[in-house]
Amino acid sequence: MIGSDMQSARTRFETMSFVSYPYEAPQSQSLFDRASVVTPGGVNSPVRAFRAVGGTPRFMVSGTGPYLTDADGREYVDLVCSWGPMILGHAHPAVIDAVQQAVSRGTSFGTPGQGEVELAEEIVARVAPVEQVRLVSSGTEATMSAIRLARGFTGRAKVVKFAGCYHGHVDALLAAAGSGVATFGLPDTPGVTGAQAGDTIVLPYNDLAAVEQAFAAHPGEIACVITEASPGNMGVVPPLPGFNGGLARLCRENGALFISDEVMTGFRVSRAGWYGLEAANEGWAPDLLTFGKVMGGGFPAAAFGGRADVMAHLAPAGPVYQAGTLSGNPIATAAGLAQLRGCTDEVYSTVDKVAAEVSGLVSDALAKEGVAHRLQTAGNMFSVFFTEAPVTDYDEARTQEAYRFTAFFHAMLAEGVYLPPSAFESWFVSAAHDERAIERIAAALPAAARAAAAATA
Ligand SMILES: *Cc1c(COP(=O)(O)O)cnc(C)c1O
Repeated sequence: MIGSDMQSARTRFETMSFVSYPYEAPQSQSLFDRASVVTPGGVNSPVRAFRAVGGTPRFMVSGTGPYLTDADGREYVDLVCSWGPMILGHAHPAVIDAVQQAVSRGTSFGTPGQGEVELAEEIVARVAPVEQVRLVSSGTEATMSAIRLARGFTGRAKVVKFAGCYHGHVDALLAAAGSGVATFGLPDTPGVTGAQAGDTIVLPYNDLAAVEQAFAAHPGEIACVITEASPGNMGVVPPLPGFNGGLARLCRENGALFISDEVMTGFRVSRAGWYGLEAANEGWAPDLLTFGKVMGGGFPAAAFGGRADVMAHLAPAGPVYQAGTLSGNPIATAAGLAQLRGCTDEVYSTVDKVAAEVSGLVSDALAKEGVAHRLQTAGNMFSVFFTEAPVTDYDEARTQEAYRFTAFFHAMLAEGVYLPPSAFESWFVSAAHDERAIERIAAALPAAARAAAAATA
């Protein structure tokens, strides 16, 4: 059954070239042709391949501030920001300088180093419930390790996750996941065995009653509930008021750990991520949090952390094994630390302002052309759903007219604005998005809104 679903998904990609592309990218095309020979699908991470929107993925050669330049020399205003990390803009001088200084001292030692201590201290100082933190190299590793730790700490096997939430490509968490899994409409993935996914309970997002029922149905068996702090991997679908706090309460009442996945939101939506926007004000805290993206400054650095009594179960302090040859790599920690130190209150207020301005422009342009849409926001993350009703879960997200996004995406690309190549991803801005960049977005929007209005399924 999984095989035939894959097959129908593939057929769908191939019949998707209904948009005609009024512009060419010969260098990107030639690189993509070469890449497709030596790499499956021509990319190292699926959503980069443009399969959901058709056309040739752009091979970027450089980035500066809010702009990316592709192999054909075309410049784009970047609204992906490397899927979140580049909150200060591309090639920020403080980050580049820190990297150059670090790299001149050598690239990896396989010993502890000062940079790791400083990055860990910065994270602990920013996010109150993080008493201790362990550095890893990707968000996937962070969530995988956090779940292992939760299972080791509680002695229980089951994990609750929510449909449409993406936590990296961890075997046990690929059930009904967001991001590329949502983009391609794949229900599950071959290669994940029943045994690996068998302890995963997938529930509808924003449905606290379903979580209550799951705890009642599996007394003493649920190790943890993991959720995106505010989901951005099915498009932006913020938690309803009280949802996250309710999860924390249910976990506490049932002896399970609450894991807030802040890989996307962490250090992006505020100094202390989504925790700083919500939990800190409501007076509760997750037991464990996961981080990535912004904290690496564009390098592979991620982390998980939380309650000291839970973290004490990690090797070598405790019995739960977790390790990494390049964990806390000196270049990555230098970049991450420089970026976090650059993320001042002023930077967050700029990013918030830019996000409000850009999302407002998008919504106005679509409204002017009579395109049914929902502009959903979570702090400075936002995305557009081509549907009328509010989107509160994955099923509702999937009812949108994604074909309108395809037309919209290509019209924006033609005008030099680079959007996530999927209707199920958050858009990201940076503190470097200045008036000129915003004017270029504004100039591209009317034609894109007309294209969305004219699009047919
Ligand atoms: C990106 C992301 C991950 C995975 O991080 P990688 O570094 O791509 O492995 C996990 N969780 C969330 C919420 C993410 O957005």
